[in-house]
Amino acid sequence: MKITSIDVYKVKPRWIFIKVGTDEGIYGWGELISGTKTETVVAGVKEMGETIIGKNPMQIEDIWQTLYRSFFRGGPINMTILSGIEMALWDIKGKYFNIPVYEFLGGRSRDRIMVYSWIGGDRPGQTVADEALDRKNKGFKAIKMNATSEMHYVDSFKKVDEVLKRVDSIRSAVGYDLEIGIDFHGRVHKPMAKVLAKELEKYRPMFIEEPVLPENDDALIEIASHTSIPIATGERLYTRWGFKDVFRSGLVDIIQPDVAMTGGILETKKIAAMAEAFDIAVAPHAPYGPIALAATLQVDSCTPNVFIQEQSLGIHYNMGFDLLDFVKNKEIFSYKDGFVDIPQKPGLGIEIDEDLVKSVAEEGLHWTNPKWRNYDGTIAEW
Ligand SMILES: [Mg+2]
Repeated sequence: MKITSIDVYKVKPRWIFIKVGTDEGIYGWGELISGTKTETVVAGVKEMGETIIGKNPMQIEDIWQTLYRSFFRGGPINMTILSGIEMALWDIKGKYFNIPVYEFLGGRSRDRIMVYSWIGGDRPGQTVADEALDRKNKGFKAIKMNATSEMHYVDSFKKVDEVLKRVDSIRSAVGYDLEIGIDFHGRVHKPMAKVLAKELEKYRPMFIEEPVLPENDDALIEIASHTSIPIATGERLYTRWGFKDVFRSGLVDIIQPDVAMTGGILETKKIAAMAEAFDIAVAPHAPYGPIALAATLQVDSCTPNVFIQEQSLGIHYNMGFDLLDFVKNKEIFSYKDGFVDIPQKPGLGIEIDEDLVKSVAEEGLHWTNPKWRNYDGTIAEW
């Protein structure tokens, strides 16, 4: 079998899909993260994609190594392109052998996959307690909220109190029927992160996420010394090499690799295996589109130290589309009592509505993350 084509689609609300074709008529879907550089990613997939035309799509490791080992390597642009191509190759392989991808990676190792739902929380005044109640009534066992909006290096304790009040309102509404993940989103700097980590402890959250930006992970040693809350990070890291310092530091309890960023399905499986050797849990990051989520479920199915899965069903990001809109076999993501079933179909298990993808792609994609400022006009992290 030979790779014959790679088509790229820019899809609202903020997704990039690719379709890899072969001379045997089998095709595979992949998804890339547009981030804030959509056109750069699209140009990159065309440039890197050209180099694999004519190659055997079954040789996933070799293609991965060939694409990865350029003189300049790594970084989010290169790695999301490589991830998207890699998951499309697995989709092809699975369809060729008529088995789900996880069957190549050890087979299923769980009965079902627990998922959590995002409930907002980063703007004052949002009624996170109502959102949490809604998720509880829908059967979820866990939610995740953003802790805070803009926060300066050192900021007012009024903002700290607002964070505590929001978390308190959730605990009052749902007790311990829902686990609560609290995402600092890399918005908080060390001086306030250690304050928040300590003061949130009484609400016993499931984890705090990205207490500081990954480039400031050195600060975790001090933050971790102030709290027993499990610390999660990793959605902006890629490859085994990007994660190894996180493991060695011993400061992180949960890693959150993103299959559309780490280097793909097999790379995420390898990173999870490294985590296992350090007794670290895995909660894969997956707030993007349907193909990335389908690829992530393949990893979850065969990876025992995954304990929960992010997903963004029903979240429209104010741009009109739910990820289910692009999926013909919607039952692949059907969740009941807070769990998703193990996918059964060949490859990634997902059937994409290509006609809809094409028509939406014609409208273009112009997503970029919001630009926030602190009270004094300095740039704030989003
Ligand atoms: Mg996050």
